[in-house]
Formats: sequence, structure tokens, C-alpha cells
Amino acid sequence: MDKLLCYNRSLTNLAVLRDAGLSSLDSDYICPLCMRSFSKECVRQDITEEHVPQKSLGGIPLTLTCKDCNSSCGSDIDVYLFESIQRIEQRAFLPGTDRRVSMQEGDGRLYGTLKVGENQDLLLNIDTKHNNPKTWNYFHDNILLEDSIIDIQDFPLKQDVRRSSAAILKNAYLFLFARTGYTFLSDTYYDSLRKQIMNPDAFILPERLWTFQNVSVQDGIYLTQDNHYRGFIIVYTLKLHGIHRVCVLIPTPKVEYLSACMCLRTIEPHVPIRILSLPNEDFLCDATAIARLKEWCYGWSLVF
Ligand SMILES: [Zn+2]
Repeated sequence: MDKLLCYNRSLTNLAVLRDAGLSSLDSDYICPLCMRSFSKECVRQDITEEHVPQKSLGGIPLTLTCKDCNSSCGSDIDVYLFESIQRIEQRAFLPGTDRRVSMQEGDGRLYGTLKVGENQDLLLNIDTKHNNPKTWNYFHDNILLEDSIIDIQDFPLKQDVRRSSAAILKNAYLFLFARTGYTFLSDTYYDSLRKQIMNPDAFILPERLWTFQNVSVQDGIYLTQDNHYRGFIIVYTLKLHGIHRVCVLIPTPKVEYLSACMCLRTIEPHVPIRILSLPNEDFLCDATAIARLKEWCYGWSLVF
């Protein structure tokens, strides 16, 4: 990723919007997550490349966010999404996965790693250096015997649906931001979406604007063709050992989040939905494309 190019394109986007009278944002760079402004002088140290989705789930640097947002999202939400995907794969005993496990006998607890082989064969590794020698000897002589049945417990993973959900939303929001900049995402309508991402424990948006439902279209950004949930469907892939596809709806500002959410829930698995690919135009720097997108977002009504 060319950080400078990305930075310059964002500035051009702001300038085009200002020149067209479509925005009053007057700033050098605005972090898309916290919407704070950063002057050119502090970009080098305060603005960072953001992997979308997160690096641990196969993401690549796609856009720029401020250092604070990048780091707080990493520890507050990204890690939860990573562990929830890890958990899905562990439950499925996906080949190539491994997990930390432990075994209890009396007062002694032995720690190890359980690996799932290519044929879903299981291999239990015990690192003797990281276990109490007495416990290890006891297990070795009395418990881990051939043909014996051992009660193995998974090491608890971080679990928090709201935090994982915030990470899922953040990815979709940043995919959309990378393509469309501040064109409509600077609307205060999206403040609640940004707040939800940055404050995952708070109940700001209805759950949930996304689904893991089987998605038959390619990764990308799509426009919904139903005004009841007029907005953007963002489809993307999370990669760990397996492939996990996510479909997120980011509504346009005239649609209430709750009604968009209710519409998404009514979509049945495997039933095609009416969507169109976001045209391959430059929605950051091309004034005509920007105006068209803006019109698509705002220039419609359910009332005739
Ligand atoms: Zn920020």
C-alpha cells in the first residue's frame, strides 16, 4: 500500500466535496473511525496503515486510520473476532488447527496442545518444560496410557459477541470508506456506527447488521435494490485455516438502522437478493462519480 498516495487521494476527496459544495469538512486528514483531524505535519507519526480485515484474519493494508484507533481496535475488538473464528474452526476440528488444552486429575493440571492433522487425526503435544515435573510424571505413568480415555478441556478463548460484531462492522465500514471516502460516510448518521465500533459494549445500534449466512456472490461492495434497506452490502472473507465469508449491510442515511436490520433478518438463506455491484468508478476523486453516488444515497424517497 502506498501510504502517501492513499493520504493524497483522501485529501483530494475532501477538496472535491468542498468545491462541489457537498461538504464543509475543512481539514488535512480525518481518521474515518474517530473523525479527528490530523495536520500534514503529524501524519507521519499519528496516522497508520490499517489492515482490512485485520492482519491475523488475512487482511491487507487498505486505508489509513489514526494510531489510537488502530491500536484500540486491535486490542478491544479485533482480538475477539480472531478468537471467535478460532473457536468456530476448533469446533469443526478443521485440519491444521491446534488449540491449547489442559487435563485435570486431583489437584494436578497438565497443559498441552492438541493438533488436528490433515485427516482429522489428533495429536496431543505436552511440553514438559511448561508443566510441573511431578504432575507430568503422574500423568505419564497413570493417565496417558494406551487406549485410555482422557478428559481434555479446551483453553477458554476470549468470547464477546458484541466485540466480535463491532470488528465485523468496522471491516465493512473501512472497505466502504476505502472506496468512497468521506463522500457520504462523513454524514452524522454514521456517528452511531462509529460509536458502536469504538464502544462495542454499549447498545447503540441494533444487533445485527451482518450475517455469516452462505453468500453466493464474490467479495465486493454491492448496492441494494430495495429501498426498504437501501444501502451497501459489503461481502468479504476472513481467512484463518478455513474461509469464513461475511455479509454486512451499511444503510444509507435516510434508512433507520433498526428497519435495515429487520429487513436483513427476513432474507432467507440461499434466496437471491437484488443487488448490483458498486460501479467501478473513482468515488474519491472524480466529481461526477461522487455526485452520482451522493444522489443514489440521498435522492430517493419511499413516499410517492
Ligand atoms: Zn482515529
